[in-house]
Amino acid sequence: MKLSRLVKLFETFVPSSFAESFDNVGLICGDPGQNIRRILVAVDLTPAVLAEARKHRTQMVLTHHPPIFQKISRLINRPSQAGLIYQAIGANIALYAMHTNLDAIEGGTNNVLADILGITADLRPVRLSRTGSNYKLVVFVPVESVDPLSEALFAAGAGRIGHQHRYRECSFASGGVGTFHGDESTSPALGRPGRREYVQELRLETIVPARDLPAVLSALRTAHPYEEPAYDLIPLEPFDDRVGMGRVGKLTRAVTAATLLKRIKAGLAIKSLRLIGSDKPKVSIAAVVAGSLSDLMPDVISSGAEFLLTGEIKHHDALLAAQNNLTVAAVGHWSSERPGLVQLVRQLNAALKTTEVILSTADSDPITIR
Ligand SMILES: [Zn+2]
Repeated sequence: MKLSRLVKLFETFVPSSFAESFDNVGLICGDPGQNIRRILVAVDLTPAVLAEARKHRTQMVLTHHPPIFQKISRLINRPSQAGLIYQAIGANIALYAMHTNLDAIEGGTNNVLADILGITADLRPVRLSRTGSNYKLVVFVPVESVDPLSEALFAAGAGRIGHQHRYRECSFASGGVGTFHGDESTSPALGRPGRREYVQELRLETIVPARDLPAVLSALRTAHPYEEPAYDLIPLEPFDDRVGMGRVGKLTRAVTAATLLKRIKAGLAIKSLRLIGSDKPKVSIAAVVAGSLSDLMPDVISSGAEFLLTGEIKHHDALLAAQNNLTVAAVGHWSSERPGLVQLVRQLNAALKTTEVILSTADSDPITIR
């Protein structure tokens, strides 16, 4: 599959617009015209992962952590992130990142961790993420013209909702009476200039992503019968109740923290973890935050969670957790993110016919515990 088509498909699965503002996701380097037959998936782009990509003759490495995150000014081939990118370009290997957008989406990194803990009810993000810019378009149209206008708006990108836009052509119409009074220079589609006209109209409402706005407004002007169509554009708050950082919810039934530690060790295939608090308390509400906890501790505490599974936690957040009777299992950054990629590989292989997606075996936690 052409890289440009693949990028479009990835955008429907894991939209870049769901990423945090500090992030750098999507296509990092590559030729949009290149044919991608095999993709290697890893948490990090490392020398071992790049060597594996060459061995398997893959045309893309898809990583969780963006290969370019901090500023890179020069691409010089020495032991560094810049050196790896230099080598990837030299080997004609495209680089693609799904990071905080993969953590945020429904069914992403955090949902996989929630499944391992057994959170089955009232599952919601710990903090909502911004999901990209959308507008509500409201347009007033004579009843008999609503169908061709809707067709044109939908064809230009309006009316798509839900994950992967599984619902299309979504709109709402309510009836009423519109008035207008055109001066002598006008040529109205209905009625005559120089007097007030009354028209049975529909108020047609639909949603438009910001990127499709120019095409949708152009389609509106072309397909609407009026010389001067009346419409409102209302910016919407960019949040979705299912998209955000971390997850919190109720366990199927209350268990001790020790039981959750067993589930974690089995589910993540790890022998040890860092524990804050006691393994004795009964837990009915649990939270997960893949990777580093970042600044989410206050949100986890206010969510009512009694137990938290995360990748890594800072000393002062550990103190805050202990003060709030929150038991925390820190499993290591890499271990908390790898299961999300196992699932991603499965999902991509099911969706892609001509491109094979393989999970890296050279990808590994740089930190070992003795
Ligand atoms: Zn991470």
